[in-house]
Amino acid sequence: MTARQEDFRRLLMERSVPGRVGAILPTPDVPLQKLPDESLLRKDLDMPEVPEPEVVRYFTNLSQLNFSIDTHFYPLGSCTMKYNPKVNDEVAFLPGFAGIHPLQPDYQVQGALKLMSLVQDYLVEITGMAASSLAPLAGAQGELCGILMIQKRHQERGEGHRLKMLVPDSAHGTNPASAAMAGFRVVSIPTDGRGNCDLEALKKEATPDLAGMMITLPSTLGLFDQGIVEVCRVIHEAGGLVYADGANMNALLGQVKMGDLGFDVMHLNLHKTFSTPHGGGGPGAGPVCVQPVLQPYLPAPVVERRGADGRETYTLVTPEKTIGKVAASHGNFGVLARAYTYIRTLGDAGLRQVSENAVLNANYLLERLRKRYHFPFDRRCMHEVVLSADWQKEKGVRGLDAAKRLLDYGFHAPTMYFPLTVAEALLIEPTETESKETLDLFVEAMNAIDREAGEAPELAQGAPHTTPVRRLDEARAARRPDLRWQRDGG
Ligand SMILES: *Cc1c(COP(=O)(O)O)cnc(C)c1O
Repeated sequence: MTARQEDFRRLLMERSVPGRVGAILPTPDVPLQKLPDESLLRKDLDMPEVPEPEVVRYFTNLSQLNFSIDTHFYPLGSCTMKYNPKVNDEVAFLPGFAGIHPLQPDYQVQGALKLMSLVQDYLVEITGMAASSLAPLAGAQGELCGILMIQKRHQERGEGHRLKMLVPDSAHGTNPASAAMAGFRVVSIPTDGRGNCDLEALKKEATPDLAGMMITLPSTLGLFDQGIVEVCRVIHEAGGLVYADGANMNALLGQVKMGDLGFDVMHLNLHKTFSTPHGGGGPGAGPVCVQPVLQPYLPAPVVERRGADGRETYTLVTPEKTIGKVAASHGNFGVLARAYTYIRTLGDAGLRQVSENAVLNANYLLERLRKRYHFPFDRRCMHEVVLSADWQKEKGVRGLDAAKRLLDYGFHAPTMYFPLTVAEALLIEPTETESKETLDLFVEAMNAIDREAGEAPELAQGAPHTTPVRRLDEARAARRPDLRWQRDGG
């Protein structure tokens, strides 16, 4: 533990002085009541007694111990840490949205249901699919829904023996996990030398027990599979269905519709592409969009529009052969309100420009970094780009060291050692919201780290040097997080 971290731990509890208060309560306008039975009150509750300004300083300082998209460039590949316009939050906080309850009857919440109905429509339009459900609360949950829909459809057609799910080795890790969780046998398909799905290997697996295939597009290599239409054709010919992991639509918005490519079902991460702040595990929304074959199986509820000509009403319905409910209520409504605002403020042309700029920014970094870093796939990338630090490793600076050193230069580290198929991988996603000036500073930092690797590799090996917490044991930090102050230091 660093001295700075210790300071923060001490700050609140040890500044506590008995009798000091941080709030002035209004005079009660009801008669004072005696507290309930003494035995219900905890005597051991150890709360700090500190004035308001100290509490504000404590939490403000605490919030700045971390990197965030509002304070730093955050090129965390696969995660789409783009800037989230604040107007999205303002809309989500409107009392008519924030103050409603999921158990209110439909007639009292027509506005909220209309918003959900429009989000369903927009996602259908963006993906080129036939219908959508907003119920899933995360990308991985959307995947599980999609895979369960495929399973149910095979079973209802008397084809329950279809138990093999293909997943390219360039897929996101949640893809094989979702397929395995649903009970499928996962078979990995290799990537060819160009970074596409290996079609010959794929054809060998197109057997009668094939259930389908899950494809991350663009792949985690940041590449658009040039054989994707053929891949979908091969799977369909063998009686399978094709799932698209569309968690990151930043390269494809307004450019291509997944439905047109041949996909049967997909999910989107509203908390990535559609600009809800995320990280630390939530909140999220992973709506699923489907072709007509899978529409009856959508997770419940979905919003149905009835009537026309300004007399529309909106109601929650359960699709005929639904895989069931996947959340306690109707999905993460606040995230849907943000996505609605994001889509409406940008419009068709704006969404298209998002993907153009996201792809331009990633290719700009590729071009500017290629002299000093090894890019294993020498072709245009999509919204993110994967480089290998294997040239730097020869001088003693691994990908991990370079990523940690970036923190000293004021940038969040990129995704490391992922995708698994690239040695010393650094997966960089600049997003469309960063300016050329920011990207240039990032390039300078990356170039400086390469120079340092030759002259003083210990700088990167010991990094980060400037952050409140130095290099962590990452496995231990994830498995046994230390999240709360305890007087005994436990
Ligand atoms: C983030 C991500 C997921 C998982 O989404 P969660 O909301 O974190 O469950 C799935 N696939 C890809 C490609 C992703 O980037």
